[in-house]
Amino acid sequence: MFENLQDRLGSILNGLTGRGALSDADVAAAMREVRRALIEADVSLDVVRSFTDKVRTKAIGADVVKSIKPGQMVVKIVHDELVDMLGAEGVPIDLNAPAPVIIMMVGLQGSGKTTTSAKIAKRLTERQGKKVLMASLDTRRPAAQEQLKQLGEQTTVTTLPIIAGQSPVEIAKRAEQAGRLGGYDVVILDTAGRTHIDEPLMVEMADIKSAARPHEILLVADSLTGQDAVNLARNFDERVGITGLVLTRMDGDGRGGAALSMRAVTGKPIKLIGTGEKMDALEEFFPKRIADRILG
Ligand code: GDP
Repeated sequence: MFENLQDRLGSILNGLTGRGALSDADVAAAMREVRRALIEADVSLDVVRSFTDKVRTKAIGADVVKSIKPGQMVVKIVHDELVDMLGAEGVPIDLNAPAPVIIMMVGLQGSGKTTTSAKIAKRLTERQGKKVLMASLDTRRPAAQEQLKQLGEQTTVTTLPIIAGQSPVEIAKRAEQAGRLGGYDVVILDTAGRTHIDEPLMVEMADIKSAARPHEILLVADSLTGQDAVNLARNFDERVGITGLVLTRMDGDGRGGAALSMRAVTGKPIKLIGTGEKMDALEEFFPKRIADRILG
């Protein structure tokens, strides 16, 4: 496995003695290791570049405090900068809008969108006492609507009755109306995915957005897909406009680089992470944990 960054920087820098500050050459050597660690953690290249620039500026001339070793000091700078770039922790789903608050879930097929919709519905119901209605807008795969219905039964969250032949926009409007008339606090729209981003998908998302006027648009992305997830986030944000991210499969062996890249590229907060298939496997996002993962 990888030698962790702390050890690598230690072997480069800790031999230095009698110095008051890190020199340019020390920092350059350290930055090569930082760059390598980030690339191994699957952080995208442009993000690696801007990141190492920031760390370099902070590290050059930084006083080496006697009580800590230079390697540890650079690791601390890297860690703090990672946390800073990953953004504030625990940015909650924003429900600060007239009821029913519409949450639109977007993403590729298989990313965990339907599962995450039900997990969020369960969480809002149980933890915040909200009355939640879920609706599947995936008319391409009839099984998808059935899947959400079953998850609704499992989590005791109401789902909008399925009416065959309706378009996604029609279902979105019906869901909003049912939410309003039924006194629901929140309506979650689980949209259709595709195996990859294409024009019809983006047009469909834009149409649903204009019809439903969601307060939150959450992109669900599989953290194990690395750079693909980053491109996905960029595309969805440019074309549809997202308000936050949910990263799934964080229980897998990804090293967290996708999280950093997606956050850096879109500037949108990572609101929640999926950590398993069970309906309770949804957690708040803690930048420090991801930073630790990236540092290895
Ligand atoms: P969708 O096509 O985007 O709606 O994806 P689904 O919600 O159907 O999820 C696809 C598969 O991924 C299912 O088997 C889920 O149980 C699984 N899944 C979803 N989120 C997670 C997660 O955070 N961790 C793990 N291990 N599996 C997940």
